[in-house]
Amino acid sequence: MNRPIFYIYFMEIRNIAIIAHVDHGKTTLTDALLRQTGAAKEGVSMDSNALELERGITIYSKNASVMYRGTKINIVDTPGHADFGSEVERVLRSIDSVLLVVDSQEGPMPQTRFVLKKSLELGLKPIVVINKIDKSAADPNRAVEQTLDLFLELGASDEQANFPIVYSIGRAGIAKLNLCDESKDLTPLLDTILSHIPSSSSKTLEQKPLRFQPFNLGYDNFMGRLAIGRIYEGVAKQSANVFIKKPGGETRSGKITKIFTFNGLERTETNEAVAGDIVLMAGLPNIDIGETVTTDSDSKPLPAIAIDEATITLTFLVNNSPFAGREGKYVTSRQLREYLEREIEVNVGLRVDFTPSDSFQVFGRGELHIAILLENMRRAGYEVQISQPQVIIREINGTKHEPFEEAIVDIPKEYQGAVIERLSARGFVLKDVSTYDEVVRLSFEGPTRGLLGYRNLFIIDTKGEGIIASRFIGFRPYAGKIYKRAVGSMISMASGKASGYSLWNLQKRGVIYIGPNTEVYEKMVIGNTSKGEEMEVNPTKGKQLTNTRSSRNDEALELTPPFTLTIERGLEIMANDEYLEITPESVRLRKQPIIKK
Ligand code: GDP
Repeated sequence: MNRPIFYIYFMEIRNIAIIAHVDHGKTTLTDALLRQTGAAKEGVSMDSNALELERGITIYSKNASVMYRGTKINIVDTPGHADFGSEVERVLRSIDSVLLVVDSQEGPMPQTRFVLKKSLELGLKPIVVINKIDKSAADPNRAVEQTLDLFLELGASDEQANFPIVYSIGRAGIAKLNLCDESKDLTPLLDTILSHIPSSSSKTLEQKPLRFQPFNLGYDNFMGRLAIGRIYEGVAKQSANVFIKKPGGETRSGKITKIFTFNGLERTETNEAVAGDIVLMAGLPNIDIGETVTTDSDSKPLPAIAIDEATITLTFLVNNSPFAGREGKYVTSRQLREYLEREIEVNVGLRVDFTPSDSFQVFGRGELHIAILLENMRRAGYEVQISQPQVIIREINGTKHEPFEEAIVDIPKEYQGAVIERLSARGFVLKDVSTYDEVVRLSFEGPTRGLLGYRNLFIIDTKGEGIIASRFIGFRPYAGKIYKRAVGSMISMASGKASGYSLWNLQKRGVIYIGPNTEVYEKMVIGNTSKGEEMEVNPTKGKQLTNTRSSRNDEALELTPPFTLTIERGLEIMANDEYLEITPESVRLRKQPIIKK
C-alpha cells in the first residue's frame, strides 16, 4: 500500500482471538508468538491462572499483544466454554478475526463449535491453524477436511470456508504454509495474520471523535473499576472529559484518569491511545459493559452488547459448622461482605443483596458461575457456607415466569434414549436432532430448574463421553411440576473419625462421600441413600470383633472409592434443608441447624 509520507508513524493494529479445544495447544502457541516477537521471555506463560487451567475455562480475560513488522497484534482472550456464551460473543464482537487451532490428530472437537459458529455469524474470517503436526499419529489433511466440513455445517460463507491454513508445531515455535515447507519459526503464521486480517486502525477513524466501548471490566484497589474495551473511533487521551452513553442514549459525564495498553503480557500506561486499539481505562464512574465513551455529546452510542442475566439465587453465610475456622484465613461476615463487594465490580452478571446483616443473597448466571466464584474464594483463604441454589422467579404481566435455557448435547448414539428420557422428565423439549460421525447432537429447550442438579447425572448417564452446554434464552411462563429423582441423605449422628468398617457397612445403602479416617460431626451429611430416604447413621462406629472379620483390618475391607464432594457436585446434590460448607481444604454437606426462636 502506498501511504503518504506523514503516515510513517501510523501504527497498524490487528485484533485477534485464539480459539481451541482444551489441550489443542492454544497456550503453547500464544507463548511461542510472544517469545518470537520478543514480547515475553522464556518460561513466561499466558496461562497463569491455575484454576482456569484446571477447568479449561477462562473467565476473566487476559489480554496480550505482540509487535510484528511495525504492526501491533492484540490477542484477546476468550472463554472456550459455551456456558459463557455472552462473554464469548462480547469478545468476538470487539475483534477482527480468530485463529482456530486444531490438533492435527484429533481434528476439530465439538466444544469449539459454539465459538466458531458465533465467529462465523459475526462475519469474522478465521485462520485455521493445524497444530501438533509433529505427532506420529497426526493426519493434517484429514484435520483440514474435517474443519472444512465443520465450517460448511455451521453455515460459513464461501469466503469464510476458503480459509487460509497454517500448519504448526506450537511447541517448537514453528509454522508453515505447506506441509513440505522448511521453516524455523512462526513467521508464516504472523505473515498470514497481517495479510489476511483487515487493519483495525486507520487515519480516517482516528480523526473522528472518540468512541470506546468496554467488553469487560476489571478492578483495582487504587483505581477502582476499570473498563477493558476497543477504541472504535478517535483518540482517547488521559484527563479527557467524556460522555458515557448507555445503549438507549442516556448520558452522564466522566473523565478518563488513566489509559493502559497491552504490551506483551504487561499493561503499559500511556497518555493516549488510538482507534483500533484494545485498551484499559480507569476513572469512568460506574462504567458498564456495552456503554459508549465519547468526546462528542452528539455521537451515537455503539450497538448494545448482550449480558447474561442472573438466573439463580442462593444465600452465602458465615461458616458456623462445628469445624468452622479450622482452615480459613477469612471467616467473618465482614470479610465475606468485602470479598463480594469487590467481586460485583468485575464479575459480570453477579448481583448481591447485602441487606440481611449476617447472610448475603447472591444472584448468578448458573451453577458453574457460582461454583467458580466459590472456588476462587476458597483459594483466597475464605470459609463460607451456602444454601441450595434456586431459580429466580419473575412476575411478568401478572403471571409467574422462570428462566429457560437451550441445552445442546453431543453424545454417542447409544446414550440418546437415556438423555432424552431424563431431560424430558425435567421439563425439556427436544427441538432438533442432527448426526455427525458417530455423534448425535440434540437441542433442547426447558426450564433452568430442570438443569439444576443434572450435569452430574449426565456424566453418569453418558459414561463421561457426552458434552452438554446450555445458555439462557429468556424468562418464560412457569413450566409447572418437573420430575427429579429424590436423593435422601445419610446423616451422621456422631462426631469423630469415620471408621472403614462402618463405611463398608454403609456403602451397601447408598453412595458415600467420605473415606475412612475423615473427621465428621453430628448432622454432617456423609452420603446419599439409594432408596431416597433420609437416614441417621453412625460412621464412627468401630469394627465389631466378631467371627471371621476379627482378623481383618480396615484396609482389607473392600471399600468403594468415595464420591468425594466438590463444589460443583455439592451444589447439585444438596437438599434445601442443607448447607454446603466450603473451606480452603474441604467441602462438606450438613443439615441446617434448627434455629430455636
Ligand atoms: P491449550 O489447553 O489449548 O492451551 O493447550 P496447551 O498449549 O496447554 O497444550 C496442551 C499440550 O499439548 C501440552 O502438553 C503441550 O506441551 C502440548 N503441545 C502443544 N503444542 C504441541 C505441538 O506442536 N506438538 C506436540 N506434540 N505437542 C504440543
